[in-house]
Amino acid sequence: MLESVEKAREEAAKAMKQCCGKSGGLLGLLLMEKRRRGADAGKLVFIGMADVAEYYWCAGQSLIKNMVMEPYFFGAYLVDRLSYSKLLGKVDKPPRTPDELLKVGDDLTMDDVERLLKKRPPKEPVAGGLPEDIESLLKEPADSKQLAAAKGIVAEAVVAEKYPTIRWNFPWRSRVVVGVPDGITDRFVYEFKATKNKFLALFRKPVALVQADLYGMFFRRPEKRVQIHIFESGETLTWHEPVDVKAAEAVLQKFETVDETRMFSAPKPWKCQNCWFKGRFCNLEGGTVVLSLPELLILQLEYAGMTFGAER
Ligand code: SF4
Repeated sequence: MLESVEKAREEAAKAMKQCCGKSGGLLGLLLMEKRRRGADAGKLVFIGMADVAEYYWCAGQSLIKNMVMEPYFFGAYLVDRLSYSKLLGKVDKPPRTPDELLKVGDDLTMDDVERLLKKRPPKEPVAGGLPEDIESLLKEPADSKQLAAAKGIVAEAVVAEKYPTIRWNFPWRSRVVVGVPDGITDRFVYEFKATKNKFLALFRKPVALVQADLYGMFFRRPEKRVQIHIFESGETLTWHEPVDVKAAEAVLQKFETVDETRMFSAPKPWKCQNCWFKGRFCNLEGGTVVLSLPELLILQLEYAGMTFGAER
């Protein structure tokens, strides 16, 4: 199954590349899709559950990240629709035109996605655990975004519980919300995070919980299991609770309001200290923040070279 998933993904990516060549690249395809949905070119349509959940870290960061990530979320949406259609035998030959590509997968349902999920194995644990020197390195502070991200990936591979998962997208009002939980069982969705210390864990907790609520609501699971691993102490905090659908709806609504108004309440000042967006697109005026965002393409180019600098 794994091999055929990879193969279906490869074929989907190849078909996308061919169609992109006929439509001005991925951004050209994205504009076609927005037109197909009756949305303006500047409307943010494809968003990610994890980046929406970041609202509870900083609403501005949540919006900016979703804007720069939109082409990637759209790419994931296309690859998943095409590769899952292939795996389920709903298409026999690859789409040849952008129009055909955008229509593939219109008939896929959540039951189809569940059928594919059932065939997925759990993620592989790291055999024999980590060498001691790597374990002690994980406890050292990370002074760049890249190192912090690498530590997070290692922690997830070693500490996180292992369940199968699948990426999928869901309509919400006029948007498409893309998500891939860290795990999905018959009863619960699983979200794992790693952070520097107990203080930061306190601020990551609301993000992790609402992220799991979004997964639970969209993937139709009644419970959520959330873990936050703390590098400094080596402990892992766990919450296992019912999914709060109202909390998931509320964060989507709040996100939508920020997108429409570009205004929100300032987060704790220390969050802004190392934020790359400060003074660029984000101007603090008293307790309110006003975002002045450039055209999407400029934003993406600037963002591509950024580093946040702070571990969290
Ligand atoms: S500067 Fe502060 S308010 Fe602005 S995006 Fe960064 S963390 Fe958020």
